[in-house]
Amino acid sequence: MSIVAIVGRPNVGKSTLFNRMIQRREAITDSVSGVTRDRHYGRSDWNGKEFSLIDTGGYVVGSDDIFEEEIDQQVELAIDEADAILFMVNAEEGITPMDEDVATLLRKVTKPVFLVVNKVDNNQREQDAYEFYNLGLGEYYSISSMNGSGTGDLLDEVVKIL
Ligand code: GDP
Ligand code: MG
Repeated sequence: MSIVAIVGRPNVGKSTLFNRMIQRREAITDSVSGVTRDRHYGRSDWNGKEFSLIDTGGYVVGSDDIFEEEIDQQVELAIDEADAILFMVNAEEGITPMDEDVATLLRKVTKPVFLVVNKVDNNQREQDAYEFYNLGLGEYYSISSMNGSGTGDLLDEVVKIL
């Protein structure tokens, strides 16, 4: 079963997308020691293709109190075990230093990385999203995890490479 991991800093909307995409939650089988923040596993399918989805970072809601090393650790784990990585950023806030940090890790990866610009709820946000080309990861997918727009186009591309 292919694995797709969602990574990114807190509050960009990872869990909202995860919850929208999964049919059922899987038991947490994370046995990697030294992982300070938990991860959630779910089963999903799109266009008849089944895959496991990982939501990284059980961060405290509304708290930005997280160490960069913890996000880096989640990204490294995702790079190791996932077949595709969804790197989520947030059009509402734009590029932050933590985004740049994660992008630096992901630019070195040979596995498919999908840059996902979330919270594109309206046309103004669509304009704002252009700045994410500056992360040096190429094309991005603008979505709204909240209302679901753009998620179909993203998943079409993701399952193509699984
Ligand atoms: P995580 O920390 O990356 O898992 O982010 P969450 O999924 O917990 O979402 C953080 C906040 O952003 C919550 O208040 C969500 O309701 C909100 N949010 C998530 N997706 C969207 C979106 O597409 N548009 C807007 N406007 N808010 C969103
Ligand atoms: Mg979350």
